Amino acid sequence: MDKRQSLKTIMGREQLNNASQCPACGRNFTMGETVVLACGGWEGGPKLVHENDAVFDEATDSYVERRCYEGRKNP
Ligand SMILES: [Zn+2]
Repeated sequence: MDKRQSLKTIMGREQLNNASQCPACGRNFTMGETVVLACGGWEGGPKLVHENDAVFDEATDSYVERRCYEGRKNP
């Protein structure tokens, strides 16, 4: 199974109860949006962010928040 697919989720009622706001862009999640579990510049482990806010990093086989990813590429 593609790792990308396993990290993707469609926001439903249960997911919204656990995570209401996207830590990457600060907007609230809405039902039916595609989100991915990504690492970023926040405290703790991977969090759910909008698919558009993250980049799939082939090197680590995981999603990284876009700002964080670009920061790593061009320090
Ligand atoms: Zn977002």
